[in-house]
Amino acid sequence: MKQGLVIKSTGSWYQVKGPDHQVLDCKIRGKFRLKGITTTNPLAVGDHVDYDIDPKTGQGVITHIHERRNYIIRKSINLSKQAHILAANVDEAFLIITLASPKTFPAFIDRFLVSAQAYRIPVTLIFNKTDLYTDDLLSEMHQLMALYNGIGYRCHAVSAKTGQGISTLKGWLTNKVSVISGHSGVGKSTLINTLEPHLQLKTLEISSYHESGKHTTTFPEMHPLTDGGYIIDTPGIKGFGVVDMDKTEIAHYFPEMFAVLQNCRFYNCTHHHEPGCAVKEALELGHISPSRYRSYLGLLTNDDDEKYRQLDY
Ligand code: GDP
Ligand code: ZN
Repeated sequence: MKQGLVIKSTGSWYQVKGPDHQVLDCKIRGKFRLKGITTTNPLAVGDHVDYDIDPKTGQGVITHIHERRNYIIRKSINLSKQAHILAANVDEAFLIITLASPKTFPAFIDRFLVSAQAYRIPVTLIFNKTDLYTDDLLSEMHQLMALYNGIGYRCHAVSAKTGQGISTLKGWLTNKVSVISGHSGVGKSTLINTLEPHLQLKTLEISSYHESGKHTTTFPEMHPLTDGGYIIDTPGIKGFGVVDMDKTEIAHYFPEMFAVLQNCRFYNCTHHHEPGCAVKEALELGHISPSRYRSYLGLLTNDDDEKYRQLDY
């Protein structure tokens, strides 16, 4: 029996990197079930597994999956309760954003942060394309950095084009399993290719289960970094979607709201209309930013759901 890391998953086959760094094609023996959720795939990249090598075929057989530290799922679009595990045991997520074109808006950032918080994955916000920022945009960036730093999120400015800030980012990625995410067009591929020129990222393989195109599934892949560690690039992790959460739970994933909400008069306060709400009081005192509160309300009322579904991110 050997232990390995799943670095690629195609649904029925898994590439497992073993202790001596060789990569073996493996299948699963038996059924793996996660508690509480139904998933369309039992294993994902980032999973640590035990496997045997079948002496007859030379192929690997996965016999056991180790407990996950965390995992990212995507709910199916068709609103069934099915979920698809995109990646497991992620150390960190890097959300690539830009204030140049196509501009990333706070509602998108906050939605991502809420999901990551729920998954217990730390996030770094990477402001890309800074070579294009005017003075106004630079000052907007510094304001946003102050806001998000204040809440506890690391922020960093880079330009994939000029290379500014790239070596720091590279240091953070070393020996970690990192997810790189962000809207289409913000510069993810350019950034990754600047970090790791040998990767020359191709677009992810996309397989359609149905000709209709209603149900497409992507298979994320972990790309090894030369200095150690992996990145999971994520055209596939489009809907770093908000996990199912109760209305009263959403504020728990806004750290600055979580810090005060135990002072709300009602234990089941939604911080929307209730009297004696500590979150609204903090908002009025300027301790919680209006844009964060707006994002919170958007999630609470879910009114931006459709808008987000149509976005390519
Ligand atoms: P992705 O969809 O997130 O992978 O974005 P791409 O890497 O394809 O980049 C989208 C466009 O933005 C391309 O035309 C890139 O050349 C450009 N781009 C990416 N990073 C930068 C940057 O730092 N500065 C400038 N000026 N352009 C950039
Ligand atoms: Zn409240």
